[in-house]
This record gives sequence, C-alpha cells and structure tokens, in this order.
Amino acid sequence: MNADLPLRIKSFFSDFQPQTPCLVVDSDIIEKRLRQLCNTLPFAECFYSVKANPAPEVIAQLVRFGIGFETASLNEVQLCIDSGAMPDKIIFGNTVKRKAEIADAYKKGVTTFVFDCIGELEKIAQAAPESHVLCRIAADNSGAVWPLTRKFGCAAEHAESLLIKAKELGVVPVGISFHVGSQQCEPKSWENAIYDAYRIFQKLSERGIELKILDIGGGFPAQYRNSVPEIEVYGECIIGFLQKYFGGAMPNIFIEPGRYFVADAGVIAGEVLLIRDDIDGTGRRWVFLDTGKFNGLQETERTQYRIASSGVGSHLVPVVLAGPTCDSDDIIYEKTPYFLPDNLTLGDKVFFLSAGAYTRTYATVNFNGFVPLKEYYI
Ligand SMILES: *Cc1c(COP(=O)(O)O)cnc(C)c1O
Repeated sequence: MNADLPLRIKSFFSDFQPQTPCLVVDSDIIEKRLRQLCNTLPFAECFYSVKANPAPEVIAQLVRFGIGFETASLNEVQLCIDSGAMPDKIIFGNTVKRKAEIADAYKKGVTTFVFDCIGELEKIAQAAPESHVLCRIAADNSGAVWPLTRKFGCAAEHAESLLIKAKELGVVPVGISFHVGSQQCEPKSWENAIYDAYRIFQKLSERGIELKILDIGGGFPAQYRNSVPEIEVYGECIIGFLQKYFGGAMPNIFIEPGRYFVADAGVIAGEVLLIRDDIDGTGRRWVFLDTGKFNGLQETERTQYRIASSGVGSHLVPVVLAGPTCDSDDIIYEKTPYFLPDNLTLGDKVFFLSAGAYTRTYATVNFNGFVPLKEYYI
C-alpha cells in the first residue's frame, strides 16, 4: 500500500523540505506521458484539456511541444495565448459559453467552438460568424470513474439536423466530438461513440456536407490504486474501431487528454497534525492532515490515490484520513480502506501520488483561513 514517490520528486522533498500542504509536479513525467500517448495514436492531433491543471508552467511546456488546447472559458483561452499558444490551436470546448466570451475568443483568433444544442449554436453563429463548429454527442460513459454524460452532448440522432442548421446559420460544420468519461478504465468504451459519429458523417455526406474532424475527447487514465490497462491497449482499441467503421475514409482525429498528461506527474504532501485512536469505535486510527477535501483532494473517495508516508514502520494499521478544516465533509478516506505505519507520528508527511490533475484549482479560496496548496513545478 505504501507506494514509492517518483525519484525527482523524492529528491525535491529531501533537498528542499517544502512547507506543506504542497503539490510538486515533475515536468519529465508530463513529457513522458505526452510521448506515450502520441506514440500510441500517432495520427491524432492533441489538444490538452486545460482544466486538468492550468498551471502556466504546464501550459508553456506543452506549447513547446506543439500541443493545442481545449478550453472552457475566456480566461483559459487567454492563459494559453499568454503562454504562447496559437489561437487557431485552441478549441473553445465548453458547451456552455457566455456569448460575449465567444465573441472575444473569436476576436483573439480562436476558430473552433463546440456546441450540443440549438441555443448554444445560435450564440456561436451570432458571436463568431464563419467559425468552425463541432457538435458534441452524448457517449456511453460506463466504465468511467467520472461520467460526464448527463450534462453534456446531444443524442446522436439530433446531431445531423443541428449540423445542417449550423451551415444555414453561416458557421462551418466541421465534425463531431464526444467524451467517454474521465478516468475511463475500459478501452472498448470508445466503440459506440465512434460508430455513432461514423453514421452522422455518412448521413451528412448524403446531404452534401463533408465533415472532416472526429474529436474523441479525453478519458485516458492515471495510475491510481486500481490498475488500468496500458495506454497501448487504448491505442489499439481506438485504431481498431476507427478502421472498422471509417475504413479508408479516416477523418482527422483530435484527442483532448487532461488527466493522463498531468496526474501521474504530481504528488501532494500533507503533514500529520493529529492522531486519534478513540473516535469511531471501529478500531481505526484517525489521522488528521494539513491538507484535505478543501485543499485539492476534492476527488476522493472516488479517486483512490496511491499513498506513501515518511513513517518508516513496516507494521501497517487501518486509518481514516481527514483534513484540517472545521467541516465534517473534510474527510479524505473513510469508506475506502487505507493503511499507514503504526509508528506514524506528528510532523510526519503523507504523500498522495498521481495527484497532478484536478487538484490545484479545486482548492477553496481561503476556507477556515487555510491557504490554497503551494505548488512547485520542477
Ligand atoms: C475535462 C475534459 C477533457 C479532459 O478529460 P480527461 O478525462 O481529464 O482526459 C476533455 N475534453 C473535454 C470537453 C472536457 O471537458
């Protein structure tokens, strides 16, 4: 259960002893993940989903590798441009956009927008005339730790009429997008959506509209406690489905990885503030840390990070892990079994591995006076 820290991050902690709570991100691991995914899907054009970790250091690193960006707001668009991204390599991918932000992004040179209903399409057509639009369809999200289906995407059978409407309204219908859900543990999940997209491509072709882009979204997994298939398996499955349906008429493939690029590159460290053995009558030890739900670890318990500690004992005892705030929801792991050395003591560190995604911007502003995570990009 006590996992090992990535080496460069381990050295950083021992050399600099940074104050906790903090997040340390190793840019070498981001680069490694980037290369693995690009080798796996070599023909795909990659747009990093900024929300997973919008640190300017991360954005700038990805700009250097020629990666594009998938954004949700004008602030994210601006962040990418400020970091050196070309606006025409930015997708405004949120299906719920403020009209004024669409217009501003368009003025800044963003040309690709995503919609999933007539209301959003009309806004885009008015605020960004002649822009390129992708219609997001709802995909089967089973197998994902974080499904996205209820909130986003239209039924596949509505995409055809929406894309025809797009053309009538003066924007350019360029393709289909979907997302199979975040931390998608089942590589076969891409099949149904690829098939649905293929049918839409066919129907529109019959109506004289040739779509050229299929955006197969994110969902590629990080290495949490439950094992997931190798990224190559995802690649093989996805390539297989694309060939099965599109055959020789392959569209341009876009991918929007978020979690996969940054999660495994980050470690969150917290310090033990209090240990109590007398709380819940289950015999479990409660370990209170200086980081918790309000300080980046919002995704627990569904996300089960691998953990490590500076306690050296080999005898492990079951623990409940809790944050420092006065909110009773601030419990990191209570339902999920976790174990730490029995000689863990005040001032020891507890590390959460693969915590580089969906953590830093999930920290609250200043709840209970606790400051957001400090961050180090090495
Ligand atoms: C969040 C998001 C992604 C990234 O998803 P991951 O599961 O982190 O890879 C990609 N595309 C869109 C539209 C998103 O909202």
